[in-house]
Amino acid sequence: MTFTSPLLDAHTAALYRSLVTAGVGRVADRIASVDRPFTGIAPERLAEEVAAVDLDRPLRDATAALDELEHLYLRDAVYFHHPRYLAHLNCPVAIPALLGEAVLSAVNSSLDTWDQSAGGTLIERRLIEWTARRLGLGPAADGVFTSGGTQSNLQALLLAREEASAGTALSRLRVFTSSCGHFSVVKAARLLGLGEDAVVGVPCDRDRRMRPGALARELDRCRRQGLVPMAVVATAGTTDFGSIDPLPEIAELSAAAGAWLHVDAAYGCGLLVSRRRHLLDGIEHADSVTVDYHKSFFQPVSSSAVLVRDRAALRHVTYHADYLNPARSAAQGIPNQVDKSLQTTRRFDALKLWLTLRIMGADGVGELFDAVIDLAAEAWTLLDADPRFEVVVRPRLSTLVFRYAPPGVSAGTLDRANLHAAAALSASGAAAVATTVVDGRHHLKFTLLNPRTTTGDIAAVLDLLAGHARAYLGDDLAHAS
Ligand SMILES: *Cc1c(COP(=O)(O)O)cnc(C)c1O
Repeated sequence: MTFTSPLLDAHTAALYRSLVTAGVGRVADRIASVDRPFTGIAPERLAEEVAAVDLDRPLRDATAALDELEHLYLRDAVYFHHPRYLAHLNCPVAIPALLGEAVLSAVNSSLDTWDQSAGGTLIERRLIEWTARRLGLGPAADGVFTSGGTQSNLQALLLAREEASAGTALSRLRVFTSSCGHFSVVKAARLLGLGEDAVVGVPCDRDRRMRPGALARELDRCRRQGLVPMAVVATAGTTDFGSIDPLPEIAELSAAAGAWLHVDAAYGCGLLVSRRRHLLDGIEHADSVTVDYHKSFFQPVSSSAVLVRDRAALRHVTYHADYLNPARSAAQGIPNQVDKSLQTTRRFDALKLWLTLRIMGADGVGELFDAVIDLAAEAWTLLDADPRFEVVVRPRLSTLVFRYAPPGVSAGTLDRANLHAAAALSASGAAAVATTVVDGRHHLKFTLLNPRTTTGDIAAVLDLLAGHARAYLGDDLAHAS
């Protein structure tokens, strides 16, 4: 498959069709045949192969380039659709969304202005309205699609800063979030020029939910020190534990303190379409919300949004450029999404969610998320009954944090054994699990987002982990028992 004019236009539409179909075919074959989530290849080995490519000597042949790509990428990629991929918040993707991805990248609309996107702008706006209604944010709600939860959190905190900071030194602003909240909150605070101590970590209870009593004390301390409570960030689905902060209590405390309430529902947003919607009760009080459709809505990366209760708050990111969105265009009622976004040129990621809702329906997405939450509950039962392991909390969503911990072995040795087990499992490629630290001790983590994963898979992976850990402990274990 050789060609000379590679730009997509009226003359090359047939070439586009055959070339992209060939690429899709390679991926489909691969997806159908991978027998483990990862080959376990060492970075040095793959780095050698990538480094050996001479980028100044093109192959000038698409088939040859795809053959090369099989070796450099497809062969050793990490496959999230595999039932034993249990590591991070990566989902198998909904096929209607992939259809959307194919369409949006070829048409290549840019959602900054109406004159670059037309219907794309309207479709995105409908999805923002739809999400805001599911959240219950009220008639003045608005928002915009973003590249991910990190950017959504940054934008939300930017709006909160602007609302809070009129005449206040940035060093006096404080943001309250639970000690289990996402690190992007701290990153956003730094990017926004807040002081080093700006983010106050509020302690969590045993279920890893923010303690409202502790938040009340911190807000009170803030006031007594003459500081300004800029925002409270509640998490609806913490990354490690899936725990959901008590939203109604937190909303009340934030309102009383005059703080902006942001809810980071990057992970928990799938509850909006699940039979467990009630777990998000209280989210309707938020001033802003982060949702990551690319986590619990089974969308390909990137697909996220930031929603706000009051569209007027978005004025803080509105700037006018003569060439793009002059102020007169707003007066003429021309819908320009760039007025609401941190980005300028921006992908039409909303199309993926649109086709997903139009083909599968919201309930179809919710059933998938409910299935993995059910699976996590069953996996907890397995772990809780297994004397080889300790499990930290009963899951609310679909993660499990646990530790190989047979009796009689020191905590430090167990730390090393658990890290070894995760690394050995990954190197074998048989399954992928994550690691994290809880109360200073290394733990293992399953993040379940694949409805095809079974309790049989879970039991088998636990056996593999225990086997690797036991092999590592060797003599230690013999002495202990
Ligand atoms: C994943 C996650 C984020 C960050 O989202 P990205 O899409 O990875 O940028 C923020 N908050 C929580 C709770 C998350 O789980």
